This record gives sequence, structure tokens and C-alpha cells, in this order.
Amino acid sequence: MPLEKMPEVGLGLWKIAPEDCAQSVYDAISVGYRHLDSACDYGNEKQVGEGIKRAIEDGLCRREDLWITSKLWNTYHAKEHVRPALEKTLADLGLEYLDLYLIHFPIAQQYVDFESRYPPEWFLDPNAENPKMAFAKVPLSETWHAMEALVDAGLTREIGVCNYNSALLMDLMNYANKKPFALQIESHPYLTQEKLIKLAKNMGLQVTAFSPLGALSYLELNMAAQNESVLVQEAVQKAAARTGKTEAQVVLRWNIQRGCSIIPKSSKLHRLKENLDIFDFSLTEDEMQAISALNANKRFNDPGEFCQAAFNTHCPIYD
Ligand code: NAP
Repeated sequence: MPLEKMPEVGLGLWKIAPEDCAQSVYDAISVGYRHLDSACDYGNEKQVGEGIKRAIEDGLCRREDLWITSKLWNTYHAKEHVRPALEKTLADLGLEYLDLYLIHFPIAQQYVDFESRYPPEWFLDPNAENPKMAFAKVPLSETWHAMEALVDAGLTREIGVCNYNSALLMDLMNYANKKPFALQIESHPYLTQEKLIKLAKNMGLQVTAFSPLGALSYLELNMAAQNESVLVQEAVQKAAARTGKTEAQVVLRWNIQRGCSIIPKSSKLHRLKENLDIFDFSLTEDEMQAISALNANKRFNDPGEFCQAAFNTHCPIYD
């Protein structure tokens, strides 16, 4: 029997270098992870598949013990590209089905075929004199209906969306024949997203917080500064001192305790263990409130910023 529920903690796979990725996945499974958060765009799905295969061959788990999520990239939103995109992801992962397939961004870009470039990333043509993104006129409803067909075909058990705001989610519920299973959004104490999370939960969706450690993921991309780390906040440090846990564990626990699942990424074995070891303590109501009060609506992963800075294209999706 496949897992009925998505495990609350998964391993995020963005920016795990291909050469380290199979081992990271194997290590994660060996220390107890049963949920992996993959994507075409991360450029490491073959290596994720190698790690899964090795773990299953060594008897660490069975396929049905794992919850595996992947994401449809922006260039494959047109209805004729959705199924081939998932089939490519499945071939790379060495799997027959996913547990969850998500629309990665509510941004439709022009198609790039697999032979020309995979993953195609953000530019239409990175070798152009002045490379830019190029949008495609594909409504999200078309993409969603093509996602629904993937469930009927048995290629994924559930479907969902990432990076949708409240208005897009409300609109989706008006045309969906199959309801989304999950919403994946950036959320940490500097971006608590309370209204959106309440809406998604009222609609019956699971909410997964990405970048649950906030700035840390964005330091290496020069999209955040060290002094923007939430781990140095007094509310977090006090809770860590009281519970004997690390600041990172406190921040991860805060998200779990408010009912979100989390997918922290680490390529270090001791942190993989640390990030999973958050179920033997609780934050008090006061600690929860003090951490939530750090909210500054600070978004690190904002296409309205990084598409202009890195891809010469104005692409705001949040106002
Ligand atoms: P994250 O998991 O919040 O943070 C990762 C960073 O924190 C890495 O630099 C990692 O370094 C460090 N770290 C991990 N555990 C730590 C600990 N216990 N103490 C101190 N530092 C620690 O950020 P993320 O990778 O951006 O987000 C998680 C996952 O969400 C991604 O991997 C991806 O799967 C998903 N995601 C989805 C979207 C989307 O659009 N749907 C966008 C972004 C991310 P080391 O590796 O060196 O340990």
C-alpha cells in the first residue's frame, strides 16, 4: 500500500550538486526520510533516481514507503507538453509513478524541446546576444486539466500547485475537476503567509513550506545577506536554549506545529539528521507567537526580483 499521507518532513533537492545527489538521497533514506522533493528544474533527477534505486536494492525501503514529489517546469505548460514532461521526469527518476506532481510556477514560458536543452531553465535562448525569458499564452486552466489527465493515467497519485497566491487558488477551485492536493509556498518566520495558508487549509489542501530556513538557501545565490538569517533572532534563540534544540530545529518545528509540512534541504549528513529530529519537543504558545511575530512579509524567492536581476525580464507574480 502506498503512503496515505505525505510525511511532514521531506528532503528538498534544489541545489544539491548532481555529483553529491545520489549519495545525499541514499543517506537521507538511511536516516529515516521517506519524502523527497524533486523537480525537473533542479537538474539532478537522474541522480535522485540512482539514490532511490540503491536504497531500495539495499533493502532500506520499498518504493511504496516513499513519497516522491516532482514539478512541471514553466516551458511545459501547454496541454501537449504536460504528459511528456512527467514521463521524462519518471524516466530520469527510474519510477513508474509519482506521489505528487506540482505546477512549479504560475508562469508559462515558450516550449524548449528536450534535445535542445534539459532542464531548459529560464532563458528562451541563453546564447542570444541579449537573452531573456519568453512567455507562452497558456492559461493555467489548460495546464491544470492536463495535470488531471496524469492522475487518470496512473502516472501520479496527486497533483497540486506551487507559488500560487490566494486569487489564483480561488480561481483554480472554480475550474478544477480534481481538487489540488497540496500548495507549496515559501514560508518561514519572516514570511508567515497566514491568510494564504488559512485559505488553502479551508479548501482542504496540504500546505508545504519551502525554504523553511529563510535566508540560508539564498546566501550562496547572493539573494540574501547573512544578517537576514532568522536563526539569530532572540525569540528563536530563547526557544532553542529552553528546549536544548538548535535554532534551525526551532524554526522547523514552528512550521510543523502550525500545521505545515516542510522540505528542508541539506547536503550534510549531520544536518539531515538534525532536521528530522524535531518530534521530541514542543514550542509553547508564547514561543509560537513570538516567532510568528517576526513576520516581515520578506520573500527571498520572488520572480518579480530575480527574473529581472538574472534573466533581464520583468515577471512579477506577487504584488
Ligand atoms: P532551506 O531548506 O530552507 O535551506 C537550505 C539551506 O540551509 C542550505 O544552505 C543548507 O546548507 C542550510 N541548512 C540546512 N539545514 C541546516 C541546519 N540544520 N542548520 C543550518 N543550516 C542548515 O531552503 P531551500 O533549499 O530553498 O528550500 C527547501 C526545498 O524547497 C528546496 O530544496 C526545494 O526542494 C524546495 N523549493 C521549492 C521551490 C518552489 O518554487 N516550489 C522554491 C525553493 C525551494 P547545507 O546544504 O550546507 O546543509
